Amino acid sequence: MKGNFLQRLARDLEAPIEARGFGTGWFSGFFALILAVAGLCFVAALRWPAWAAMPELGPVRASAEFRLAVHGVLIAAYALALLSLLLRPRKALGATALAIALAATILGGSAVQRDETRNWGIFFGIDFFAVNMVATGLMFAPLERVFPRHSSQRLFRQEWREDLFYYLVSSMMVQLITFLTLAPSGYINANAGAGWLASTRAAISGLPWLVQFVLAMALTDLAQYWFHRLFHRVPFLWGFHAVHHSARSMDWLAGARMHFVEIVLLRGVTSLPLLTLGFLPSVMQAYVGLVYVWSSLLHANLCGDFDRLGAWLALPRFHHWHHAIDAEGVDKNFAIHFPIYDRIFGTYYLPEGAWPSGYGVPEEVPNGYLAQLRYPFVRKG
Ligand SMILES: [Zn+2]
Ligand SMILES: [Zn+2]
Repeated sequence: MKGNFLQRLARDLEAPIEARGFGTGWFSGFFALILAVAGLCFVAALRWPAWAAMPELGPVRASAEFRLAVHGVLIAAYALALLSLLLRPRKALGATALAIALAATILGGSAVQRDETRNWGIFFGIDFFAVNMVATGLMFAPLERVFPRHSSQRLFRQEWREDLFYYLVSSMMVQLITFLTLAPSGYINANAGAGWLASTRAAISGLPWLVQFVLAMALTDLAQYWFHRLFHRVPFLWGFHAVHHSARSMDWLAGARMHFVEIVLLRGVTSLPLLTLGFLPSVMQAYVGLVYVWSSLLHANLCGDFDRLGAWLALPRFHHWHHAIDAEGVDKNFAIHFPIYDRIFGTYYLPEGAWPSGYGVPEEVPNGYLAQLRYPFVRKG
């Protein structure tokens, strides 16, 4: 076996389909890896909360149940890693998961004590990344396997490493993104003392939580619709958004591919209505969580036409058409929650039972995270 350990791991993850079925140890190895990485992240968040964790998740980390859950995650990682090592002739997957779970245990495992570090002022939401990875990875990877739209497409398809890196950056940076997004809130709060805005804010914050949540989805999607349409319309902005559209395969990971500038602007602009109108902070936080899961769902390699439901709720087929290489799908379906906005503004396209023939953009977007970061500034046209 040639190559360094990372190459061996990648080769094992990308193994041909016959080496990845049930009983080959591939699945146990894959899940062991996800759980081990998540466990390591949780332990790091408990040990170095000042720089590795989200303050918003503080109460969760302080609870006894959280430590119990971390314990469970690590035990499951060990068990699955051992199962994979037993079943699988190649050991890279199981051995890596085992090593990572071991590292988490050495760091203190679920009994880890907080390390007094100074506050660096920069937060990496390592716990958010772990929650996000467990929630979306464990949910969508098996779903895509059971109900695939493109059954020949593999979980570790072409470009998966780039997309995983995007996923890592966007969920690790959730702290920074949230900060940039919420920065205008102080100004708004200070200037909403009287008048209609103050009474609207009071009315909204008095609504039941669930009503606020659905309203938040509807208002954000309206702002997002026009923001998104603008990024398709203005050539300079398109340079940023073309990165998202450059994915040639669709799955739960592909949605993470988004230029950093676009993420920050998108989150900033689309949360303005919520900030201005006085939604509860917990509603906004829950909404940020929902966006990550929903985005994975929209891009997921999942079948199911949902002709009727899909007209009201954005589901995979609706957003797959947004990514279509086919002419009829171009500049259609901008909404991410409620297709009704596309119907109102004349950009709706969802022909019964039909799917796009392929995904991507006509222009040549370079491969690699850094090249794509640079792309909007060097792009011609
Ligand atoms: Zn788009
Ligand atoms: Zn998309």
